[in-house]
Amino acid sequence: MLPERICRLDELASNLWWSWHPQARELFRRLDYPMWRITGHNPVKQLREIEPAKLEAAAADPRFTSMYDSVMAHFDTDMAASNSWFTTRYGEALPGPVAYFSAEYAIHNSLPIYAGGLGVLAGDLCKEACDLGLPFVAVGFMYPQGYFHQHISADGRQVELYRQLDFDEAPVNPILAPDGSRSLVQVQLDDKTLHIGVWQVRLGSVNLYLLDTNVEENPPACRELTARLYIAEREQRIQQEMLLGIGGVRVLRVMGISPSVWHANEGHTAFMMLERIREEVQDNKVTFTEAVERVRANTIFTTHTPVPAGHDVFRGELVERYFGDYWPSLGLDRQTFLGLGRDDGAGGQGFNMSALALRLSGRHNAVSKLHSEVSRRMWQGLWPGTRAEEGLRSTYVTNGVHMPTWVAPEMLRLYQKYVGDDSRDLMEAQDDPELWQRILQIPDEEFWQVHQLLKRKLMGIMHERAQQRWADGDISAEQVVAMGTLLHPEVLTIAFVRRFTEYKRPALIFHDVERLKRLVRHPLQPVQIIFAGKSHPADTASKDLLQRVYTMAKDRGFRGRIAFVEDYDMHMAHYLVQGVDVWLNVPRRLQEACGTSGMKASMNGVLHLSVPDGWWHEGYNGANGWVVGSDSAADVAEEDRADAEALYSLLENEIVPLYYAMDRSGVPHGWVSMVKEAIRSVMPVFCARRMVKEYTERMYIPAARSPVPTP
Ligand SMILES: *Cc1c(COP(=O)(O)O)cnc(C)c1O
Repeated sequence: MLPERICRLDELASNLWWSWHPQARELFRRLDYPMWRITGHNPVKQLREIEPAKLEAAAADPRFTSMYDSVMAHFDTDMAASNSWFTTRYGEALPGPVAYFSAEYAIHNSLPIYAGGLGVLAGDLCKEACDLGLPFVAVGFMYPQGYFHQHISADGRQVELYRQLDFDEAPVNPILAPDGSRSLVQVQLDDKTLHIGVWQVRLGSVNLYLLDTNVEENPPACRELTARLYIAEREQRIQQEMLLGIGGVRVLRVMGISPSVWHANEGHTAFMMLERIREEVQDNKVTFTEAVERVRANTIFTTHTPVPAGHDVFRGELVERYFGDYWPSLGLDRQTFLGLGRDDGAGGQGFNMSALALRLSGRHNAVSKLHSEVSRRMWQGLWPGTRAEEGLRSTYVTNGVHMPTWVAPEMLRLYQKYVGDDSRDLMEAQDDPELWQRILQIPDEEFWQVHQLLKRKLMGIMHERAQQRWADGDISAEQVVAMGTLLHPEVLTIAFVRRFTEYKRPALIFHDVERLKRLVRHPLQPVQIIFAGKSHPADTASKDLLQRVYTMAKDRGFRGRIAFVEDYDMHMAHYLVQGVDVWLNVPRRLQEACGTSGMKASMNGVLHLSVPDGWWHEGYNGANGWVVGSDSAADVAEEDRADAEALYSLLENEIVPLYYAMDRSGVPHGWVSMVKEAIRSVMPVFCARRMVKEYTERMYIPAARSPVPTP
């Protein structure tokens, strides 16, 4: 029981709004700092385990209660959203909320239902929708086992560990049917009727509903269907996507939510459009063609993958089996139905979820300028007879990242002090380029102090983890070194931190091992490199790459200056994007749709060193980081050679000398001025606030208002 004076702490703990508001975090921190750390910053768990005496003490402490009052007032303002950007500007422009569908969401570590970038984007978008006061509701999956945790064995193999989520300790609440049962809706999967339960996650005024098949109405074999994320097995995958798309629409309906706009994040969610067509045909008695027009009018689809192999495709036979009873309800025959997922453009076989989504959405977008060019070419075949630039409409909305989530609180305070002014809140004005001109007012010394603090913090965490694994007794001394215990905060630190997959080229920097060793071992101006990232469990080629990198980390020739951080996730991502000097990004040309980790790094004053791909194609301005490589390469081997060569010479001739050009007190002024240019140019453009405003103004409001242009 909470003391009366602070009785709303429960409410605050169960709304993840706290996670991106520094003062709310501070509140839980102050309540019981050791417990805050032990629970991994999980206030739901903290409040369950805290000693009552500590609560009583907090309730009697005027400093605590005044902070509590201020946090709750801020919380209530955000919940009401009456003075928000959206309400002030657009009032009733959206008669119902935007319904956002995504297969994963990365919001906070206490809710591990994401695998990577796509989830982070979805989570950031929801948080920003809340900050802007946009009417918004999100639909996804509860994966009780989530994505795997990663350990690396002594010989560098990835070990995958699955942990069951403890629902009592997670910020989720079950939604119950009027009869008190967990089953809210049903979906027919081949010969089985599956029951779906729903968990509610609160993100300020935005609700996220997570679908779950682990309800007692389902036979045990079906309860595991949603246990894990991105299973490779196709049949289970189509079942998951049917549950999400079809079940998701039904869930919103039973809860009485009437969206005015529907937004599908990536092809996994496209069955949502079919279900709405079925509703029109069956409930409103319109023809299929009319139903498609109605659905297209207020449906938005965002594609994220520039590589054909990255799109979700199901064998025709599988689709026939699962939709054989469904297409008659759309008023369709087999051939017309299967034609909805045909991909003539890329020449692929089977039922393509992106092709389906493109046909059934009136507005669609790519996630960066370059990606939109690639996508238009890729999907040209879907609209025979049109020119490439006419096919894929609405071009692109470049991704952005949620500033309060990703910028270190220490940095935010510095920005607040020098960039913010009394008349405007820094958070409110974060997407105003004018404001960030003032970044030059931060004294170099002060910036460098904060940056070094964040570097030490990162290394401290790495040491702590290594120490724990060492104490547990399951790793060798060599592995302790590979975990980064010999890193030094004064040394120029480069990070290669991202999903391990072939096209991202994690081992590119080892192209010429001897040349790299000279850089790393330089007596006066050494370099150290931190790696982190997971391989998909079914991707053996990328697991081999991971092993190669790990072998380098153990190689004494590198003096312990190559480290591999296990189990890359959102929590570790915070320390990494905030605590290194250079963020390395070297995917093969045109394969990265956008990328967002480099934006997080730049906003924290970590310089981006990247191929001119994805967001960097539009973000690089010649002075805010570096571009490596060019697009002249003839084949893959030549591309690797040329890019590695370019990378080494940049490091040797520009990056290392610039970093070590320090004054007597150890401040590298040239470096810091480049950092300021990075913050100034990246922050207002690549923040989620710019992105969500763009979605709202260019997609959501027009979709809610007007019929869609015909293809
Ligand atoms: C930001 C982020 C990503 C996305 O990074 P990319 O630049 O797309 O590689 C992936 N995983 C985590 C945990 C992140 O925080």
